[in-house]
Amino acid sequence: MSNMVAPSQTPVWVNETRCKACDICVSLCPAGVLGMRLDPHKVLGKVIEVAHPESCIGCQECELHCPDFAIYVADRKEFKFAKITPEAQERAQKVRSNNYMLDTNTQRK
Ligand code: SF4
Ligand code: SF4
Repeated sequence: MSNMVAPSQTPVWVNETRCKACDICVSLCPAGVLGMRLDPHKVLGKVIEVAHPESCIGCQECELHCPDFAIYVADRKEFKFAKITPEAQERAQKVRSNNYMLDTNTQRK
């Protein structure tokens, strides 16, 4: 799927209708890009959110491990990804220890 064209120059994007809220992508993202947000309209009451696209390093861990083919990463030839930073790593750790949920400080408004 990495040869798909990113919508609006986005490094990573989600097909929410496919997401089963399994948390796998969030657990693997090294850059704190992803997190789950509460959504009462979803079966499991939550859904994936690309909260910090600016931090995506394009490692493709999320796309490669999503069992439902719900998350996609832009092609390296078409998108200049970020470099990993200590802040991004720290955010990833924080989301993991928050049971993969975005907290109110990291959730996109
Ligand atoms: S790995 Fe796929 S199905 Fe699981 S939370 Fe991420 S996008 Fe959703
Ligand atoms: S490509 Fe890597 S850094 Fe970007 S969202 Fe997926 S797992 Fe995170």
